[in-house]
Amino acid sequence: MTTNAELFERRRAAVPNGVSHATNVFAARAENAEVWDVEGRRYIDFAGGIGVLNVGHRHPTVVAAVKDQLERSMHTCWQVLLYEPYVALAERLNKIAPIAGPAKTILLSTGAEACENAVKIARAATKRSAILAFSGAFHGRTMMAMALTGKVAPYKQAFGPMPAEVFHVPFPVEHYGVSVKDSLRALDTLFKSDVAPTSVAAILIEPVQGEGGFHVAPTELLQALRKLCDTHGIMLVADEVQSGFGRTGKMFAIEHSGVKPDMITIAKSLAGGLPLAGVVGRAEIMDAVGPGGLGGTYAGNPLACAAGLAVLDVFEREKLLERSVAIGALIQSRLETLKGGADLLPINAIRGRGCMIAFDLVRQAGEHEPDADAAKRVTTRALQQGLVLLTCGVYANTVRILVPLTASDAIVKEGLDIMERALMRND
Ligand code: PMP
Repeated sequence: MTTNAELFERRRAAVPNGVSHATNVFAARAENAEVWDVEGRRYIDFAGGIGVLNVGHRHPTVVAAVKDQLERSMHTCWQVLLYEPYVALAERLNKIAPIAGPAKTILLSTGAEACENAVKIARAATKRSAILAFSGAFHGRTMMAMALTGKVAPYKQAFGPMPAEVFHVPFPVEHYGVSVKDSLRALDTLFKSDVAPTSVAAILIEPVQGEGGFHVAPTELLQALRKLCDTHGIMLVADEVQSGFGRTGKMFAIEHSGVKPDMITIAKSLAGGLPLAGVVGRAEIMDAVGPGGLGGTYAGNPLACAAGLAVLDVFEREKLLERSVAIGALIQSRLETLKGGADLLPINAIRGRGCMIAFDLVRQAGEHEPDADAAKRVTTRALQQGLVLLTCGVYANTVRILVPLTASDAIVKEGLDIMERALMRND
């Protein structure tokens, strides 16, 4: 039998260190919310490939759609020979995205690429260059997406200089003492001290921050940003790469606020495990770039488009938005019972929307001082007991749950039981 350790040794020799891992486990096969490693051990998957598997591993409808497309064509390049699944997926996304008026969609391959393209489109549409984003944000690892990311270590520190004209303002997190008012005041200060609002092409915001710690952008902030963007002709871009596709109980997290952005970046759960991303936006903005200015050899690959169409079918057929709310409620209520348990490590700030839920490991019950070591201990112990669980957050003390929305209550409860054991003080 090949072991995880043997494979990891080979990995060490063959692959650079810059790509790190949440675990040392090599997956052999996966089904819905369960994964089996090369040694035959079973895991419940609360990571979902970092929010990619809202319809679960290898959903039969997705697998069938990909197989069917595989029999027809794998790649022609959208810029050479067109294919219907791309158009069909764009049409469906245009219909469901919370964009005011007619929408258009460009398909790409990764979340970072989606953010890069949103910036390009905003710059072409406004003929301006500055871009604003938030502290704690994560928009990707390519040059511009990295510059937009609001966390230095480990994402930015070795890679300067950053592209010019990117500015950050604090993301409001009440328990860290930053209110919506503080964020808006910082924006105002930025406009006075560093960049005129009339030079700003776009403001990017995650309606629920992903890597930054599952902090929900308050409706009040999103409404204020919409107003500000309208006043100054700035494009509001919602980065829904992690929060989209039902994770929060709505197809797109920004729908909770009623605010309509000018563009939405999508990826991850869009195609149920195949690499696909996109930007959906107001038609006239999306058409601001001249022919040849956008695209990519693999962007909108037909297998991935077929998977994306199947994902949307699964959402409708299996009522996954309702499931997201139901599973979210199940997790949330369990977490509430864990908070304050005398034999458990102290947790606080249980938060999120729908099934996009996280909590913090803290030094003392009722306080917010982060305990990153405790969070690491919890995910390590969870893995030993058969649960894949991820951390996130600016202080690395947040545990986030990204279980597939197709998981049964029994599997979710089994995962929560393991998480509870992993939270024991002296386990
Ligand atoms: N935006 C958000 C909100 C994300 O969560 C991520 C990935 N974690 C990205 C962009 C980048 O996506 P990718 O890794 O596919 O480039």
